Amino acid sequence: MAKLVYEYILVRYGELTTKGKNKNEFIKKLANNMKLALSNYPNLVFERTRDHIYVHLNGTDPDEVTPILKNIFGIRSFSKTLKVENNIEEIVKAGKDIMEDKQGTFKVITKRANKKFEILSDKVNRMVAGEILKNYGPNLKVDVHNPDYKLIVEIREKNTYLMAETILGAQGFPVGVGGKAMLMLSGGIDSPVAGYLTMKRGVEIECVHYASMPYTSLASLNKVKELAKLISGYQGQIKLHIIPFTNTQMEIYRVCDHSYAITMMRRMMYRLAQSLAERNKCLAIVNGESIGQVASQTLESMAAISEVVNIPVIRPCVTLDKLEIIDIARQINTYETSILPYEDCCTIFTPKNPVIKPKKDKCRWYEEKYDFEPFLKEALENVETVIISPSTKFDDNEDLF
Ligand code: ATP
Ligand code: MG
Repeated sequence: MAKLVYEYILVRYGELTTKGKNKNEFIKKLANNMKLALSNYPNLVFERTRDHIYVHLNGTDPDEVTPILKNIFGIRSFSKTLKVENNIEEIVKAGKDIMEDKQGTFKVITKRANKKFEILSDKVNRMVAGEILKNYGPNLKVDVHNPDYKLIVEIREKNTYLMAETILGAQGFPVGVGGKAMLMLSGGIDSPVAGYLTMKRGVEIECVHYASMPYTSLASLNKVKELAKLISGYQGQIKLHIIPFTNTQMEIYRVCDHSYAITMMRRMMYRLAQSLAERNKCLAIVNGESIGQVASQTLESMAAISEVVNIPVIRPCVTLDKLEIIDIARQINTYETSILPYEDCCTIFTPKNPVIKPKKDKCRWYEEKYDFEPFLKEALENVETVIISPSTKFDDNEDLF
């Protein structure tokens, strides 16, 4: 059979339908995000209504559009839709064709919005189902209670529309309706997942990475860029700020008890993240911390570290088990990159016995006795920012700092 020519893709909204008067703004944002993500398909026309967005295909192959739509937050589900004349022969044929490549159970649900159409819904149901059974009988059976496929036949004023499948969307809110936050992106498993979960709630992200050149290699930096690229598709593109962190770390190691090095280092990271956040109009910091995962992620550590900032710190992975985080990492395709064995700044400067219950007073004491300001200032003055999208190609020999 020749490939079916679908008319449009019907897109159903996610949670935003509950959002009352913000709804319009949400729908507009979603439509814009969809247009951006699908900008390589110039024939598409987007039509917004209160309940749906129609993506008119005008000849575009819906199977090319489907994987892109699946990654757009704010979409609950969507369905490829056929359009035919209000004519029973055409309707029956289209019902048969749309089921050709399917196996399992089905049910036909006819909605006769156009009461002038002379055949009653029930009869249309039986005619369409009969034709399907006649042609694909062994592969497809009727189940009216719990069918694999609900074949919807909507007879409207001018035309009849048919859809057989409901494809699950990415859920969440359209990225951007929730403002912007600064994600601390390491090369590990957790922080890309934290970024994904944040974008899912409609918050746009920028990323900050602390690099310890020359103790960390160019390869480890490229790995971080690759991770940024892998999550960039959820919002179109992503800004990655790379902060040279070596001098700050060396100073910490020079003056502090090594069991406090990680705590002190993370206080400095948080301060830098807040400065960058403010500079870039981000309202919060996001990171991949999870309670108890390592010494610096006990509640005592979190308290000692986050006291140095006064904007919210969002930790989407905070209560997830490592295996749960890994599940999400696999699902968003970052896992294989995250486990590549390149060192990062923390693995290199990890002391043998990091303190598990750091004292805030001791941290403050170090910071009063030694002046870290010039180091932070220098780091902020030398930030390198790159903009990354799913189509970005990296020059592996590119020299930073
Ligand atoms: P991940 O798997 O995300 O690397 P982790 O288990 O290795 O996390 P830590 O190294 O303690 O945990 O880091 C906790 C969080 O701090 C990370 O999830 C990330 O958000 C942030 N972070 C750590 N190192 C860096 C870095 N070099 N640059 C930016 N953020 C970092
Ligand atoms: Mg890490």
